[in-house]
Amino acid sequence: MTNTEQERWTRVKGRLRTEIGEDVYSSWFARMDLEGLESGTARLSVPTRFLKSWIQSHYAERLLACWQAEQNEVNRVELIVRSAVLRNAAVKPKEIESVNGHRGNGFEGRAATAGDAGAHEALGGSPLDARLTFDSFVVGRSNTLAQAAAKQVAAGKRGETVMFNPLYIHSGVGLGKTHLLQAITWAGNASGERKVLYLTAEKFMYGFVQSLRVQNTLAFKEALRGIGVLVIDDLQFLQGKNTQAEFCHTLNALIDSGRQVVIASDRPPSDLESLDERVRSRLAGGLVVEIASLGEELRFEILKARVAAARSHHPGFDVPLPVLTYIAKAVTHNGRDLEGALNRLLAHSKLTGHTVTLEMAEREVRDLIRPQEPKRVKIEDIQRVVARQYNVSRSDLLSSRRTANVVRPRQVAMYLAKTLTLRSLPEIGRRFGGRDHTTVLHAVRKIEGLVGNDMALAEEIEILKRQLQE
Ligand code: ADP
Ligand code: MG
Repeated sequence: MTNTEQERWTRVKGRLRTEIGEDVYSSWFARMDLEGLESGTARLSVPTRFLKSWIQSHYAERLLACWQAEQNEVNRVELIVRSAVLRNAAVKPKEIESVNGHRGNGFEGRAATAGDAGAHEALGGSPLDARLTFDSFVVGRSNTLAQAAAKQVAAGKRGETVMFNPLYIHSGVGLGKTHLLQAITWAGNASGERKVLYLTAEKFMYGFVQSLRVQNTLAFKEALRGIGVLVIDDLQFLQGKNTQAEFCHTLNALIDSGRQVVIASDRPPSDLESLDERVRSRLAGGLVVEIASLGEELRFEILKARVAAARSHHPGFDVPLPVLTYIAKAVTHNGRDLEGALNRLLAHSKLTGHTVTLEMAEREVRDLIRPQEPKRVKIEDIQRVVARQYNVSRSDLLSSRRTANVVRPRQVAMYLAKTLTLRSLPEIGRRFGGRDHTTVLHAVRKIEGLVGNDMALAEEIEILKRQLQE
Protein backbone atom coordinates (compact mmCIF):
# COMPACT_ATOMS: atom_id res chain seq x y z
CA MET A 1 0.00 0.00 0.00
CA THR A 2 1.34 3.44 -0.84
CA ASN A 3 1.90 6.31 1.52
CA THR A 4 -0.63 8.36 -0.38
CA GLU A 5 -3.24 5.74 0.33
CA GLN A 6 -2.42 5.75 4.01
CA GLU A 7 -2.60 9.52 4.10
CA ARG A 8 -5.91 9.45 2.38
CA TRP A 9 -7.17 6.93 4.88
CA THR A 10 -5.99 9.21 7.68
CA ARG A 11 -8.03 12.01 6.21
CA VAL A 12 -11.09 9.81 5.80
CA LYS A 13 -10.78 8.88 9.48
CA GLY A 14 -10.47 12.56 10.31
CA ARG A 15 -13.69 13.31 8.52
CA LEU A 16 -15.48 10.46 10.20
CA ARG A 17 -14.25 11.59 13.60
CA THR A 18 -15.52 15.11 13.00
CA GLU A 19 -18.87 13.87 11.82
CA ILE A 20 -19.68 11.37 14.54
CA GLY A 21 -17.68 12.81 17.42
CA GLU A 22 -14.67 11.56 19.29
CA ASP A 23 -16.53 9.19 21.59
CA VAL A 24 -18.47 7.29 18.99
CA TYR A 25 -15.41 7.28 16.77
CA SER A 26 -13.15 5.74 19.32
CA SER A 27 -15.82 3.23 20.35
CA TRP A 28 -16.19 1.79 16.91
CA PHE A 29 -13.49 2.92 14.54
CA ALA A 30 -10.29 3.25 16.53
CA ARG A 31 -9.15 -0.22 15.52
CA MET A 32 -10.09 -0.10 11.88
CA ASP A 33 -7.24 -0.41 9.37
CA LEU A 34 -6.92 0.10 5.67
CA GLU A 35 -5.89 -3.14 3.96
CA GLY A 36 -5.94 -2.03 0.39
CA LEU A 37 -7.48 0.18 -2.23
CA GLU A 38 -8.19 -1.23 -5.66
CA SER A 39 -10.44 -0.37 -8.55
CA GLY A 40 -12.93 1.66 -6.60
CA THR A 41 -13.02 -0.63 -3.58
CA ALA A 42 -11.57 0.29 -0.22
CA ARG A 43 -10.78 -2.77 1.88
CA LEU A 44 -10.93 -2.15 5.60
CA SER A 45 -10.34 -4.52 8.45
CA VAL A 46 -11.49 -4.68 12.05
CA PRO A 47 -10.48 -7.13 14.77
CA THR A 48 -13.83 -8.72 15.57
CA ARG A 49 -16.93 -9.94 13.86
CA PHE A 50 -19.04 -7.88 16.13
CA LEU A 51 -17.32 -4.65 15.14
CA LYS A 52 -17.72 -5.60 11.55
CA SER A 53 -21.41 -6.32 11.75
CA TRP A 54 -22.01 -3.25 13.87
CA ILE A 55 -20.20 -0.91 11.51
CA GLN A 56 -21.86 -2.57 8.60
CA SER A 57 -25.34 -2.04 9.92
CA HIS A 58 -24.88 1.42 11.40
CA TYR A 59 -22.15 3.27 9.63
CA ALA A 60 -21.92 1.80 6.15
CA GLU A 61 -23.27 4.81 4.31
CA ARG A 62 -21.33 7.27 6.41
CA LEU A 63 -18.10 5.44 5.84
CA LEU A 64 -18.62 5.32 2.13
CA ALA A 65 -19.62 8.97 2.02
CA CYS A 66 -16.45 9.96 3.86
CA TRP A 67 -14.36 8.05 1.37
CA GLN A 68 -16.14 9.60 -1.54
CA ALA A 69 -15.66 13.06 -0.11
CA GLU A 70 -11.93 12.35 -0.08
CA GLN A 71 -11.74 10.30 -3.26
CA ASN A 72 -14.60 10.28 -5.66
CA GLU A 73 -13.70 7.04 -7.45
CA VAL A 74 -14.32 4.92 -4.40
CA ASN A 75 -17.71 3.33 -4.82
CA ARG A 76 -17.54 0.44 -2.45
CA VAL A 77 -16.23 -0.29 1.00
CA GLU A 78 -15.42 -3.84 1.96
CA LEU A 79 -15.12 -4.90 5.57
CA ILE A 80 -13.13 -7.88 6.72
CA VAL A 81 -12.30 -9.38 10.06
CA ARG A 82 -8.59 -9.15 10.69
CA SER A 83 -8.04 -12.34 12.63
CA ALA A 84 -9.57 -14.23 9.75
CA VAL A 85 -7.04 -12.66 7.43
CA LEU A 86 -4.16 -13.72 9.62
CA ARG A 87 -5.42 -17.22 10.18
CA ASN A 88 -6.08 -18.06 6.59
CA ALA A 89 -3.50 -15.92 4.87
CA ALA A 90 -5.88 -15.62 1.99
CA VAL A 91 -9.31 -14.28 2.78
CA LYS A 92 -12.16 -16.63 2.24
CA PRO A 93 -14.92 -15.03 0.22
CA LYS A 94 -17.36 -15.75 3.00
CA GLU A 95 -15.56 -13.37 5.33
CA ILE A 96 -16.12 -10.53 2.99
CA GLU A 97 -19.39 -8.77 2.76
CA SER A 98 -19.73 -5.65 0.83
CA VAL A 99 -20.75 -2.52 2.58
CA ASN A 100 -22.72 -0.47 0.18
CA GLY A 101 -25.14 1.16 2.49
CA HIS A 102 -28.16 -0.74 1.31
CA ARG A 103 -27.47 -4.26 2.30
CA GLY A 104 -25.82 -5.40 5.44
CA ASN A 105 -28.17 -5.20 8.37
CA GLY A 106 -25.81 -7.32 10.38
CA PHE A 107 -27.98 -10.40 10.33
CA GLU A 108 -26.97 -11.95 7.07
CA GLY A 109 -24.17 -14.14 5.84
CA ARG A 110 -23.48 -15.69 9.18
CA ALA A 111 -23.71 -19.36 9.95
CA ALA A 112 -25.31 -20.17 13.27
CA THR A 113 -22.26 -21.97 14.62
CA ALA A 114 -20.94 -19.51 17.16
CA GLY A 115 -24.49 -18.81 18.22
CA ASP A 116 -24.59 -20.72 21.46
CA ALA A 117 -21.41 -19.19 22.77
CA GLY A 118 -22.69 -15.81 21.69
CA ALA A 119 -26.02 -16.09 23.40
CA HIS A 120 -24.41 -17.45 26.49
CA GLU A 121 -21.88 -14.68 26.64
CA ALA A 122 -24.65 -12.19 26.16
CA LEU A 123 -26.41 -13.46 29.24
CA GLY A 124 -23.21 -13.38 31.23
CA GLY A 125 -23.12 -9.62 31.24
CA SER A 126 -20.32 -7.26 30.31
CA PRO A 127 -16.95 -7.56 31.99
CA LEU A 128 -16.56 -5.72 35.27
CA ASP A 129 -13.56 -3.80 36.56
CA ALA A 130 -12.70 -4.93 40.06
CA ARG A 131 -11.60 -1.44 41.03
CA LEU A 132 -14.95 0.18 40.42
CA THR A 133 -16.65 -0.29 43.77
CA PHE A 134 -18.41 1.93 46.29
CA ASP A 135 -15.28 1.87 48.43
CA SER A 136 -13.20 3.53 45.77
CA PHE A 137 -15.89 6.02 44.80
CA VAL A 138 -15.25 9.44 46.28
CA VAL A 139 -18.36 11.41 47.17
CA GLY A 140 -18.57 15.16 46.70
CA ARG A 141 -21.15 17.78 45.98
CA SER A 142 -21.56 16.92 42.32
CA ASN A 143 -22.32 13.24 42.85
CA THR A 144 -23.88 12.92 46.31
CA LEU A 145 -27.36 12.19 45.08
CA ALA A 146 -26.25 9.76 42.41
CA GLN A 147 -24.11 7.85 44.88
CA ALA A 148 -26.84 7.73 47.51
CA ALA A 149 -29.39 6.46 45.00
CA ALA A 150 -26.94 3.87 43.72
CA LYS A 151 -26.26 2.62 47.24
CA GLN A 152 -29.95 2.40 47.92
CA VAL A 153 -30.45 0.28 44.84
CA ALA A 154 -27.54 -1.98 45.70
CA ALA A 155 -28.96 -2.58 49.16
CA GLY A 156 -32.39 -3.53 47.79
CA LYS A 157 -33.80 -6.86 48.90
CA ARG A 158 -35.67 -9.49 47.02
CA GLY A 159 -39.41 -8.92 47.15
CA GLU A 160 -39.03 -5.48 48.68
CA THR A 161 -40.84 -2.60 47.01
CA VAL A 162 -38.57 -0.72 44.63
CA MET A 163 -38.30 2.95 45.50
CA PHE A 164 -37.50 4.52 42.18
CA ASN A 165 -37.58 2.75 38.90
CA PRO A 166 -35.68 3.14 36.74
CA LEU A 167 -32.75 4.92 38.33
CA TYR A 168 -31.35 7.00 35.51
CA ILE A 169 -27.93 8.60 35.90
CA HIS A 170 -26.56 10.99 33.30
CA SER A 171 -23.49 13.18 32.90
CA GLY A 172 -20.71 14.12 30.55
CA VAL A 173 -17.90 11.70 29.94
CA GLY A 174 -15.59 10.52 32.74
CA LEU A 175 -17.65 11.67 35.69
CA GLY A 176 -18.24 8.31 37.30
CA LYS A 177 -21.37 6.76 35.76
CA THR A 178 -19.74 3.49 34.86
CA HIS A 179 -18.02 3.46 38.21
CA LEU A 180 -21.34 3.73 40.06
CA LEU A 181 -23.09 1.20 37.85
CA GLN A 182 -20.39 -1.38 38.36
CA ALA A 183 -20.34 -0.63 42.08
CA ILE A 184 -24.05 -1.46 42.19
CA THR A 185 -23.35 -4.69 40.36
CA TRP A 186 -20.51 -5.76 42.65
CA ALA A 187 -22.34 -4.87 45.83
CA GLY A 188 -25.68 -6.30 44.74
CA ASN A 189 -24.23 -9.61 43.62
CA ALA A 190 -22.04 -9.86 46.71
CA SER A 191 -25.09 -9.63 48.95
CA GLY A 192 -26.73 -12.41 46.98
CA GLU A 193 -30.14 -10.82 47.44
CA ARG A 194 -30.89 -10.14 43.84
CA LYS A 195 -29.06 -11.14 40.71
CA VAL A 196 -27.62 -8.03 39.11
CA LEU A 197 -26.79 -8.06 35.43
CA TYR A 198 -24.56 -5.33 34.02
CA LEU A 199 -24.73 -4.82 30.29
CA THR A 200 -23.40 -2.11 28.08
CA ALA A 201 -25.98 -1.02 25.53
CA GLU A 202 -23.70 -2.56 22.98
CA LYS A 203 -23.81 -5.87 24.78
CA PHE A 204 -27.55 -5.68 25.09
CA MET A 205 -27.79 -5.25 21.35
CA TYR A 206 -25.25 -7.95 20.70
CA GLY A 207 -27.11 -10.39 22.88
CA PHE A 208 -30.30 -9.59 21.12
CA VAL A 209 -28.85 -9.83 17.66
CA GLN A 210 -27.13 -13.08 18.54
CA SER A 211 -30.24 -14.61 19.95
CA LEU A 212 -32.18 -13.69 16.84
CA ARG A 213 -29.55 -15.36 14.75
CA VAL A 214 -29.93 -18.61 16.57
CA GLN A 215 -33.67 -18.19 16.85
CA ASN A 216 -33.35 -18.15 20.53
CA THR A 217 -35.08 -14.92 21.43
CA LEU A 218 -37.17 -16.70 23.95
CA ALA A 219 -34.20 -17.96 25.90
CA PHE A 220 -32.71 -14.52 25.91
CA LYS A 221 -35.91 -12.98 27.20
CA GLU A 222 -36.38 -15.64 29.80
CA ALA A 223 -32.88 -15.16 31.09
CA LEU A 224 -33.35 -11.43 31.30
CA ARG A 225 -36.54 -11.94 33.17
CA GLY A 226 -34.79 -14.16 35.65
CA ILE A 227 -32.72 -11.33 37.03
CA GLY A 228 -33.46 -8.90 39.84
CA VAL A 229 -31.60 -5.81 38.72
CA LEU A 230 -30.77 -4.91 35.14
CA VAL A 231 -28.03 -2.34 34.73
CA ILE A 232 -27.49 -0.81 31.31
CA ASP A 233 -24.55 1.47 30.62
CA ASP A 234 -24.21 4.03 27.85
CA LEU A 235 -27.79 3.85 26.73
CA GLN A 236 -27.13 6.55 24.13
CA PHE A 237 -25.50 3.87 22.00
CA LEU A 238 -28.63 1.77 21.75
CA GLN A 239 -29.55 1.77 18.12
CA GLY A 240 -31.74 0.02 15.64
CA LYS A 241 -35.49 -0.34 15.59
CA ASN A 242 -35.57 -3.98 16.66
CA THR A 243 -33.25 -3.51 19.56
CA GLN A 244 -35.12 -0.50 20.75
CA ALA A 245 -38.41 -2.33 20.63
CA GLU A 246 -36.81 -5.14 22.58
CA PHE A 247 -35.33 -2.72 25.05
CA CYS A 248 -38.74 -1.15 25.54
CA HIS A 249 -40.24 -4.58 26.13
CA THR A 250 -37.60 -5.58 28.61
CA LEU A 251 -37.89 -2.29 30.43
CA ASN A 252 -41.63 -2.59 30.78
CA ALA A 253 -41.52 -6.23 31.77
CA LEU A 254 -38.95 -5.62 34.47
CA ILE A 255 -40.47 -2.47 35.91
CA ASP A 256 -43.99 -3.84 35.87
CA SER A 257 -42.89 -6.89 37.79
CA GLY A 258 -41.15 -4.76 40.40
CA ARG A 259 -37.63 -5.49 39.34
CA GLN A 260 -35.05 -2.73 39.37
CA VAL A 261 -33.61 -1.10 36.28
CA VAL A 262 -30.58 1.19 36.37
CA ILE A 263 -29.44 3.17 33.39
CA ALA A 264 -26.57 5.49 32.57
CA SER A 265 -26.32 7.76 29.60
CA ASP A 266 -24.53 10.87 28.46
CA ARG A 267 -27.79 12.80 28.24
CA PRO A 268 -31.15 13.11 29.99
CA PRO A 269 -34.01 10.87 28.81
CA SER A 270 -35.71 13.73 26.98
CA ASP A 271 -32.65 14.07 24.76
CA LEU A 272 -32.48 10.46 23.65
CA GLU A 273 -33.78 11.43 20.27
CA SER A 274 -33.77 8.04 18.65
CA LEU A 275 -36.00 6.46 21.27
CA ASP A 276 -39.70 6.87 20.97
CA GLU A 277 -41.72 9.10 23.20
CA ARG A 278 -43.21 6.34 25.36
CA VAL A 279 -39.83 4.90 26.22
CA ARG A 280 -38.44 8.32 27.01
CA SER A 281 -41.24 9.11 29.38
CA ARG A 282 -40.93 5.71 31.01
CA LEU A 283 -37.24 6.42 31.54
CA ALA A 284 -37.99 9.84 32.94
CA GLY A 285 -40.62 8.38 35.25
CA GLY A 286 -38.19 7.03 37.83
CA LEU A 287 -35.41 8.96 39.45
CA VAL A 288 -33.28 10.98 37.04
CA VAL A 289 -29.99 12.19 38.52
CA GLU A 290 -27.30 14.22 36.89
CA ILE A 291 -23.66 14.02 37.97
CA ALA A 292 -22.23 17.49 37.59
CA SER A 293 -18.63 18.09 36.66
CA LEU A 294 -16.09 17.31 39.35
CA GLY A 295 -15.17 20.31 41.48
CA GLU A 296 -11.56 20.96 42.34
CA GLU A 297 -11.96 19.60 45.84
CA LEU A 298 -13.46 16.36 44.58
CA ARG A 299 -10.74 16.02 41.97
CA PHE A 300 -8.20 16.39 44.73
CA GLU A 301 -9.85 13.71 46.86
CA ILE A 302 -10.07 11.33 43.93
CA LEU A 303 -6.38 11.83 43.22
CA LYS A 304 -5.50 11.23 46.83
CA ALA A 305 -7.48 8.02 46.89
CA ARG A 306 -5.86 6.92 43.65
CA VAL A 307 -2.36 7.52 44.93
CA ALA A 308 -3.14 5.54 48.07
CA ALA A 309 -4.42 2.66 45.95
CA ALA A 310 -1.36 2.81 43.69
CA ARG A 311 0.96 2.75 46.68
CA SER A 312 -0.33 -0.62 47.77
CA HIS A 313 1.17 -2.07 44.57
CA HIS A 314 4.10 0.33 44.23
CA PRO A 315 5.28 1.16 47.72
CA GLY A 316 8.02 3.52 46.51
CA PHE A 317 5.54 5.73 44.70
CA ASP A 318 4.71 9.02 46.31
CA VAL A 319 3.14 12.17 45.02
CA PRO A 320 3.85 15.27 47.07
CA LEU A 321 0.93 17.43 48.06
CA PRO A 322 1.81 20.36 45.77
CA VAL A 323 1.76 18.01 42.81
CA LEU A 324 -1.66 16.67 43.77
CA THR A 325 -2.93 20.19 44.17
CA TYR A 326 -1.44 21.20 40.88
CA ILE A 327 -3.05 18.31 39.02
CA ALA A 328 -6.39 18.84 40.73
CA LYS A 329 -6.31 22.46 39.59
CA ALA A 330 -4.88 21.96 36.13
CA VAL A 331 -6.57 18.81 34.91
CA THR A 332 -10.14 19.95 35.04
CA HIS A 333 -11.50 17.64 32.51
CA ASN A 334 -12.80 14.47 34.07
CA GLY A 335 -11.97 11.39 36.07
CA ARG A 336 -10.39 9.67 33.14
CA ASP A 337 -7.82 12.41 32.66
CA LEU A 338 -7.03 12.40 36.36
CA GLU A 339 -6.32 8.73 36.14
CA GLY A 340 -4.23 9.28 33.02
CA ALA A 341 -2.19 11.97 34.75
CA LEU A 342 -1.39 9.74 37.69
CA ASN A 343 -0.53 6.80 35.47
CA ARG A 344 2.02 8.91 33.68
CA LEU A 345 3.62 10.04 36.88
CA LEU A 346 3.75 6.47 38.06
CA ALA A 347 5.26 5.23 34.82
CA HIS A 348 7.77 8.02 34.74
CA SER A 349 8.93 7.52 38.29
CA LYS A 350 9.16 3.76 37.83
CA LEU A 351 11.13 4.02 34.63
CA THR A 352 13.55 6.72 35.67
CA GLY A 353 13.69 6.00 39.38
CA HIS A 354 13.19 9.70 40.07
CA THR A 355 10.79 10.95 42.68
CA VAL A 356 7.80 12.87 41.47
CA THR A 357 8.30 16.62 41.39
CA LEU A 358 6.19 19.51 40.29
CA GLU A 359 8.42 20.15 37.26
CA MET A 360 8.05 16.58 36.17
CA ALA A 361 4.29 16.74 36.71
CA GLU A 362 4.03 19.89 34.64
CA ARG A 363 5.90 18.27 31.82
CA GLU A 364 4.03 15.00 31.95
CA VAL A 365 0.48 16.28 32.09
CA ARG A 366 0.84 19.25 29.79
CA ASP A 367 -1.33 17.81 27.07
CA LEU A 368 -4.07 16.84 29.52
CA ILE A 369 -4.60 20.46 30.35
CA ARG A 370 -7.15 21.50 27.90
CA PRO A 371 -9.01 24.72 27.65
CA GLN A 372 -12.33 24.43 29.46
CA GLU A 373 -14.77 22.46 27.40
CA PRO A 374 -17.65 24.59 26.26
CA LYS A 375 -20.46 24.06 28.71
CA ARG A 376 -23.30 21.75 27.76
CA VAL A 377 -26.06 24.22 27.04
CA LYS A 378 -29.54 22.93 27.68
CA ILE A 379 -32.66 23.93 25.83
CA GLU A 380 -34.42 24.66 29.13
CA ASP A 381 -31.66 27.09 30.06
CA ILE A 382 -31.98 28.84 26.74
CA GLN A 383 -35.72 29.18 27.23
CA ARG A 384 -35.27 30.46 30.76
CA VAL A 385 -32.61 33.03 29.88
CA VAL A 386 -34.41 34.26 26.78
CA ALA A 387 -37.73 34.53 28.63
CA ARG A 388 -36.07 36.58 31.34
CA GLN A 389 -34.32 38.84 28.84
CA TYR A 390 -37.52 39.64 26.96
CA ASN A 391 -39.73 39.67 29.96
CA VAL A 392 -42.07 36.90 28.88
CA SER A 393 -42.70 33.59 30.57
CA ARG A 394 -41.23 30.28 29.50
CA SER A 395 -44.70 28.95 28.83
CA ASP A 396 -45.27 31.91 26.49
CA LEU A 397 -42.35 30.66 24.47
CA LEU A 398 -43.84 27.18 24.29
CA SER A 399 -47.39 28.37 23.68
CA SER A 400 -49.06 28.88 20.34
CA ARG A 401 -49.49 32.61 20.90
CA ARG A 402 -48.44 34.63 17.90
CA THR A 403 -48.26 38.19 19.21
CA ALA A 404 -45.11 40.05 18.25
CA ASN A 405 -43.80 40.25 21.81
CA VAL A 406 -43.57 36.45 22.02
CA VAL A 407 -42.86 35.57 18.40
CA ARG A 408 -39.47 37.28 18.29
CA PRO A 409 -38.18 35.90 21.61
CA ARG A 410 -39.36 32.46 20.57
CA GLN A 411 -37.45 32.73 17.30
CA VAL A 412 -34.35 33.90 19.14
CA ALA A 413 -34.61 30.98 21.54
CA MET A 414 -34.98 28.49 18.69
CA TYR A 415 -32.05 30.06 16.91
CA LEU A 416 -29.92 29.74 20.03
CA ALA A 417 -31.04 26.15 20.51
CA LYS A 418 -29.87 25.36 17.00
CA THR A 419 -26.54 27.15 17.31
CA LEU A 420 -25.58 26.28 20.88
CA THR A 421 -26.73 22.66 21.15
CA LEU A 422 -26.38 19.63 18.94
CA ARG A 423 -30.12 19.04 18.89
CA SER A 424 -31.80 18.42 15.56
CA LEU A 425 -34.53 20.64 14.17
CA PRO A 426 -37.34 18.14 14.91
CA GLU A 427 -36.07 17.74 18.45
CA ILE A 428 -35.99 21.50 18.98
CA GLY A 429 -39.49 21.75 17.57
CA ARG A 430 -40.68 19.14 19.99
CA ARG A 431 -39.13 20.99 22.91
CA PHE A 432 -40.85 24.21 21.86
CA GLY A 433 -44.37 23.03 22.45
CA GLY A 434 -44.43 20.37 19.74
CA ARG A 435 -43.73 22.55 16.74
CA ASP A 436 -42.84 21.26 13.31
CA HIS A 437 -39.18 21.26 12.26
CA THR A 438 -39.99 23.61 9.39
CA THR A 439 -41.12 26.21 11.93
CA VAL A 440 -37.77 25.92 13.66
CA LEU A 441 -35.93 26.19 10.38
CA HIS A 442 -37.92 29.27 9.52
CA ALA A 443 -37.05 30.86 12.87
CA VAL A 444 -33.37 30.06 12.49
CA ARG A 445 -33.24 31.53 8.98
CA LYS A 446 -35.21 34.56 10.07
CA ILE A 447 -32.82 35.42 12.89
CA GLU A 448 -29.77 34.65 10.77
CA GLY A 449 -31.09 37.11 8.21
CA LEU A 450 -31.81 39.79 10.78
CA VAL A 451 -28.52 39.76 12.70
CA GLY A 452 -26.68 40.75 9.53
CA ASN A 453 -28.43 44.13 9.50
CA ASP A 454 -29.78 44.71 12.96
CA MET A 455 -26.85 45.63 15.19
CA ALA A 456 -28.96 45.85 18.31
CA LEU A 457 -30.34 42.36 17.82
CA ALA A 458 -26.89 40.99 17.02
CA GLU A 459 -25.61 42.39 20.27
CA GLU A 460 -28.57 41.08 22.26
CA ILE A 461 -27.86 37.63 20.93
CA GLU A 462 -24.19 37.89 21.77
CA ILE A 463 -25.10 38.78 25.35
CA LEU A 464 -27.51 35.87 25.59
CA LYS A 465 -24.87 33.50 24.24
CA ARG A 466 -22.35 34.70 26.76
CA GLN A 467 -24.79 34.29 29.62
CA LEU A 468 -25.54 30.75 28.53
CA GLN A 469 -21.98 29.69 28.00
CA GLU A 470 -20.25 31.07 31.04
P1 ADP B 1 -18.27 7.73 32.88
O1 ADP B 1 -18.82 6.36 32.82
O2 ADP B 1 -19.20 8.72 33.49
O3 ADP B 1 -17.73 8.21 31.57
P2 ADP B 1 -16.28 6.52 34.58
O4 ADP B 1 -17.15 5.90 35.61
O5 ADP B 1 -15.70 5.62 33.57
O6 ADP B 1 -17.02 7.73 33.87
O7 ADP B 1 -15.12 7.33 35.32
C1 ADP B 1 -13.91 7.68 34.70
C2 ADP B 1 -12.76 7.47 35.67
O8 ADP B 1 -12.87 8.40 36.74
C3 ADP B 1 -12.79 6.09 36.30
O9 ADP B 1 -11.47 5.68 36.45
C4 ADP B 1 -13.46 6.33 37.62
O10 ADP B 1 -13.04 5.38 38.57
C5 ADP B 1 -12.98 7.73 37.98
N1 ADP B 1 -13.96 8.44 38.79
C6 ADP B 1 -14.98 9.24 38.38
N2 ADP B 1 -15.67 9.72 39.42
C7 ADP B 1 -15.08 9.22 40.53
C8 ADP B 1 -15.31 9.34 41.93
N3 ADP B 1 -16.31 10.11 42.40
N4 ADP B 1 -14.50 8.68 42.76
C9 ADP B 1 -13.46 7.94 42.30
N5 ADP B 1 -13.19 7.78 41.02
C10 ADP B 1 -13.97 8.40 40.12
MG1 MG C 1 -19.04 5.10 31.15
